[in-house]
Amino acid sequence: MKVLVTGGAGYIGRTVVSALEDHGHTPVILDSLVTGRKEFTEGKIFYQGDIADRTVLEQIFTDHPEIKHCIHFAALIVVPDSVENPYGYYTENVAKSLELFKNLNDLGCKNIVFSSSASLYDVVPGFKVTEDAPLKPSSPYARTKYMMEMILQDFCQAYGMHGIALRYFNPIGADPKLRSGAHVQFPSHVLAKLLEAASSEEAIFNITGVNWPTRDGSGIRDYIHVWDLAMAHVKAIENFDQAFERSEDPANPYLVINLGTGNGVTVKELVSIFESVLGREVNKTETEPRPGDVAGAYASCERAKQLIDWEAQYSIEDGIRDAFRWDDIRETILNYN
Ligand code: NAD
Repeated sequence: MKVLVTGGAGYIGRTVVSALEDHGHTPVILDSLVTGRKEFTEGKIFYQGDIADRTVLEQIFTDHPEIKHCIHFAALIVVPDSVENPYGYYTENVAKSLELFKNLNDLGCKNIVFSSSASLYDVVPGFKVTEDAPLKPSSPYARTKYMMEMILQDFCQAYGMHGIALRYFNPIGADPKLRSGAHVQFPSHVLAKLLEAASSEEAIFNITGVNWPTRDGSGIRDYIHVWDLAMAHVKAIENFDQAFERSEDPANPYLVINLGTGNGVTVKELVSIFESVLGREVNKTETEPRPGDVAGAYASCERAKQLIDWEAQYSIEDGIRDAFRWDDIRETILNYN
């Protein structure tokens, strides 16, 4: 199948591009490169442009009229930036997705897979969330995802479109074949901070928050290998129509599916696993939670298995190992100068 991939020059989008190709599909990338990497588009069908630019979309559908599915990754994704610049985030993520969905519908591309986030969920007792768990998006970034889900749902109801919102938990690792991985030079997510602590004697890893009501007081997350995440998108595309037929209400054109492993891992447990993969300890200290931090959540994954026939295969150790392998070669692939 030929599939439009917005944000295909980013971390997750580019990994999905490889997974689609490995399974006989043809991705067509639309990316403005606002944060993504040109290196990730080499040898691919690539249109550099904005998701809200109708002209570039018209060109894509003139060149590739057989595209009937779009996977929409393109977004700004840094939570603290969204707190400082909500206007930018609501414009880039919400307003531009509104235009994208409208234009896709006009151009006959009515099947959308949308990158959503587990950051939409409220904290629940036991920390395990089904797709029907209460929502409480706690940052402007998370609220952009919430709004985009609502827009997509309404478009599906009104315009004969079909949408699957995939709520990702915490992606880690890289393409096991090392064609792509995390590309931000100074990232702020937990595994990057651990890699940093492992690479220098001065660096200290902060365990932010140790008084949460979890089994050891540190925050709980569901770390999912990015290749597993990528394969879920391949499965979502391949089982697109069946997913609706298999759902509780086949007449409903909009579905939400969690993508996680189903295993909750605390930050302290993550540090121990990281140290066992590394073969030594890292410098670490315990600090207060950062503003906006929450105890966390992990996924109930039954719906993904039932509707798109997908479940995670890789372990957290695999994710850490692939993050190390990618970190070793990243600067030979990406030119930061
Ligand atoms: P990323 O920054 O690596 O990729 C985003 C891509 O979108 C970049 O290549 C960027 O250039 C492109 N882009 C942004 N705005 C655009 C626009 N207006 N027009 C065209 N291209 C545009 O981020 P990622 O980590 O790969 O995330 C991909 C998606 O997954 C995002 O929607 C994000 O919200 C979602 N998500 C990510 C995580 C995570 O931890 N990385 C977790 C949950 C959900």
